Amino acid sequence: MTLEIPANYQRIVLAARPRGPVVEENFRLETVAVPALAEGEVLVRNHYLSLDPYMRGRMSAAKSYASSQALDHTMIGNTVGQVVASRHAGYAVGDYAAGLLGWAEMGVADGAALRKLDVAALPLSVYLGAAGMPGMAAWYGLNHIILPKAGETVVVSAASGAVGSVVGQLAKLRGCRVVGIAGGPEKCAHVVDVLGFDACIDYKAGQLEADLAAATPDGVDGIFENVGGATLEAALARTNAFARIALCGLIGGFNGQEMPIKNSRILLINRLSLRGFIVTEHMDLWPQGLQELAQLVADGKLKYHESVATGLAAAPRAFMGLLQGQNLGKQLVKLI
Ligand code: NDP
Repeated sequence: MTLEIPANYQRIVLAARPRGPVVEENFRLETVAVPALAEGEVLVRNHYLSLDPYMRGRMSAAKSYASSQALDHTMIGNTVGQVVASRHAGYAVGDYAAGLLGWAEMGVADGAALRKLDVAALPLSVYLGAAGMPGMAAWYGLNHIILPKAGETVVVSAASGAVGSVVGQLAKLRGCRVVGIAGGPEKCAHVVDVLGFDACIDYKAGQLEADLAAATPDGVDGIFENVGGATLEAALARTNAFARIALCGLIGGFNGQEMPIKNSRILLINRLSLRGFIVTEHMDLWPQGLQELAQLVADGKLKYHESVATGLAAAPRAFMGLLQGQNLGKQLVKLI
């Protein structure tokens, strides 16, 4: 198979670090030449770009678990696309692959850094969501930290999002009572009616603690925390003895706000276990987790929803929307 290779492609670079909320001026759209391939490299035309909260951390100069994104370099980002040229024995033109090619229409990667995708099994975009990194975060935090037993109650924040939606469905498959927390009545309706959670609390309705107490009559045994702050505090107040907390994200503090745990005494009183995790530190488990997740999606047991922006130039606005809760499910940018 041969596929057309253009001379140039577009990319978005980090033009300036945010001071507070992300703004369009933090990004710059550029046209660059398609590079020649070295031995072992593969040229991929990206079909979808994933927008993820972690990118906000990388835009900042502040020290985190990963180093900052360099100014004037292509914004970091997970991508799926089709191979248009290859000098790697494992990839032929026409193959589909997932990679970290960034906010760009095309990209070059070492073939060893790509993951070959089966597009007959699942739609390409799903490999960026439920059967990709967000799905793995859900799978790891639930199965390796919360370790839920049938009949236990699990609370999930950012419940309608890419990670939270998978957490709740996996916990339901384990026989748990699952209560989501999400922003707004539409998201909560989706979480209950489409994803099958037992209940969902709209934290924007202003009575998070009382609503969560009513939805967790037997207390809480597992917390999958994506937001921090008020949602974590409300869930902590409902914990049973020996509850487990998987601390996946603190998106509530992404613009530099501190995220203290006000009722930390409860960690002692209820003998709680709290563990933060970074899913990319557990690559040994990815083949097993991704295989299970892909099978569940293929079998119709794991549902997913996507918010899709069109064209690379739409990425900055869609990313700002993600950080303001405008997405439902996985936020993607469709490039082709
Ligand atoms: P989502 O698809 O859940 O989108 C983000 C959602 O977070 C928004 O829709 C919004 O939902 C909520 N949100 C955004 N800003 C705020 C805010 N200021 N305060 C409260 N809620 C906010 O994203 P992901 O599923 O990709 O990620 C969820 C979390 O998991 C993030 O914290 C992310 O950093 C973390 N993560 C961690 C990984 C790890 O390895 N530890 C891997 C992947 C993700 P709503 O409208 O319901 O508030």
